Order: sequence, then structure tokens, then C-alpha cells
Amino acid sequence: MAGVGADALHKPLGLLAELTHRCPLGCPYCSNPLALDAREDELDAATWDRIFREAAALGVLQVHLSGGEPGARRDLVDIAAAAHAAGLYTNLITSAVGISDKTLDALAAAGLDHVQISIQDADASSADRIAGYDGAFARKRALAAAVVRLGLPLTVNAVVHRANIERIGEIVDLALALGASRVEIAHVQYYGWALKNRALLMPTPEQVERAAALVDELRARHRGRIVIDAVVPDYYARYPKPCVGGWGRRSLNVTPAGRVLPCHAAESIAGLEFWSVREHSLVDIWTSSPAFNAFRGTDFLPEPCRSCERREIDFGGCRCQAFALTGDARATDPVCQLSPHHGLVEELAAVQEDRSYSYRRM
Ligand code: SF4
Ligand code: SF4
Repeated sequence: MAGVGADALHKPLGLLAELTHRCPLGCPYCSNPLALDAREDELDAATWDRIFREAAALGVLQVHLSGGEPGARRDLVDIAAAAHAAGLYTNLITSAVGISDKTLDALAAAGLDHVQISIQDADASSADRIAGYDGAFARKRALAAAVVRLGLPLTVNAVVHRANIERIGEIVDLALALGASRVEIAHVQYYGWALKNRALLMPTPEQVERAAALVDELRARHRGRIVIDAVVPDYYARYPKPCVGGWGRRSLNVTPAGRVLPCHAAESIAGLEFWSVREHSLVDIWTSSPAFNAFRGTDFLPEPCRSCERREIDFGGCRCQAFALTGDARATDPVCQLSPHHGLVEELAAVQEDRSYSYRRM
């Protein structure tokens, strides 16, 4: 597709700002790419300031300061202040390791609106084993307490997989005890590091069934006390999710080195051309960059999506997953039960191994 006028397109609502790929933790399901951006290639704070102003002009309402671990940036407070000054609702997504209480105070003073802390499990030793970092769990508890003391809203995020899926109830109890107003229970999505560790992370069908029933029960039990968001595990779903709300439709993602992606895993698709904020404005990238226009809308979809009534609901699913499993990013996401490749998903879900994780390391 040639360049499209900005007005003819949907406006992006959210910007994921990956400030760095550095992280002290080594989660085996990390959504960062296998080839991580080096520290010397990271954008400086002045460039992030420009990105936030351009994002706000484009219609973006929320920015998620993420990584890697954003606390690894010494200029994190300046970056958060720039996001706030641009008028964006500013959310910090952190592992908690690397954010001191003093930094948190400075972030709050700079206008930070919300904090999201990831936890690996409700059991301390299991959590530290999954994170590949001793003491991470204790630091998360301490930072969560500091967030609540400051009166900032807190979300707890937990990625669930075979090693912790039996403790979803305890994870929700922990989120309540920490004072979170929301907990996100997200099953692993298999690309990047998670694809590498898929057979170690994959839950059994029985575990997935029990987890779904438990989430319903927990929602009813804790209604009015905490919001429980749950993301269905791809490999056990009947239909795919509308990944990132539709490619190039609702959100954009800026990598530490400045490449702008339609979704955080988009670099896993071979042959896509990503433009950088070092050479282009955000509005040019949103309207005209080849990667954003590659899978916009539904015209590119083959059968069975082309004639399916759900195509404007799920946009044929996830392009990264279609590429990872079929080698063709235009294909129907094989998670869909109507995909001719759906049998592959069932075969892969049945492969489970028990060995040491390949931890995510730079
Ligand atoms: S998923 Fe784990 S390793 Fe990856 S950035 Fe988050 S805390 Fe760090
Ligand atoms: S066939 Fe395509 S549009 Fe229909 S449900 Fe499956 S992925 Fe969605």
C-alpha cells in the first residue's frame, strides 16, 4: 500500500516505549526479541521527548514505559517527565528490580500516573527460579508497598505457564494483599524467548481447563475488590485474539534503538521493513512505513478468513504467530480451528519437556 493520509486511518491510542532491552531478570518467556538492542544503540532522552510529543499529536493517549527493565535507564525520571509534559497518561511497566524507592518518589513527582509490576509466581522460591534472579520476589513486594504508599494505582501482571498455573488463586491473593486494583493473568504467547522455551512452558489441557474455571470463580469471589483480566492461552483457543487490536490500527511500539513496530514481536517476521524515529517522524511511520501497511485491514487475508464473518473481529489473528508456525505471515493464524494448519497447533501443544529453561540474557 502506498502512503495513506493520516485522517483516513485509525488513530493509535497506545505507545509502548521500550526504553532499553537491559534487564537483570531472565524470564524464559520474555517477549523481547532474541537479538536484543545494545545499550550504546539506545535512544537518548531528548529523542524520547520528541517521540512523546509526536505521539500525542498523532492521537496517542497512553504511553507504557517498558523494556527490558526501564529502571536500567539512569534518565528514566527525565523520560517519564517528558511523557507527562506531552499530556500522555504515563504507565511504568517494571520488574521492580532496579527501581529504588527514591527513584519511585522522583517518578511520582515527575507525573507518573500508574505502575504495573510483573510477578513470576506467588511462591518466592519458584518466582526467583523462573526469573533467574535471587531476591527478585522480595524486591517486588517492597516496591508494590511503596507504590501504594504514594497513592499510585497498581496493577500486578503475571505470566502463567506450566510451572505456576496451579497457583493462580495465590497470585490473585498476593495481588490483593499488595493493594493492587487490577491483576492481569496472561498465558505465555509463543514467540521470541517463549518460542525457544515452548515445550518447557506449555501447560497441559487439564491445567488450562482448571485455570479457566478458577478465573471465573475468582472474578465472582473478588468482584468489587480487584479487577481480574485474563488472556486465554493461544494454543488452546478456538479462535485467535485480535492481536494488538488489529495491525497498525490501535498501537505502536518503539524499540530501544528507535525502530517502530506495529507490535512488539513484529521483528520476528522476516522481510518486513521497519522505519526508525531517527530518520522519520512518527506520523510518517504510522501512515507510510512498509511494515505498518503490510497487514493493515483485512484485504490481504486468504481463505478461510476472506469469507469469514469474524474477519473484522479478529483480523485473522496474529501475524507473528502465523509466520512462526507456517512461514507465511499472511496466513490465517493456525490457532484458529478453521485454519488448514490448526493440526500443527494441537501437535505442538502436546509436546512437553522438563529440562532447564533457556533464560533470556543479553
Ligand atoms: S519478561 Fe522478565 S526478562 Fe523480560 S523484560 Fe520483563 S522482567 Fe525482564
Ligand atoms: S477463519 Fe480467520 S477470520 Fe475466521 S475466525 Fe478464523 S482467523 Fe478469524
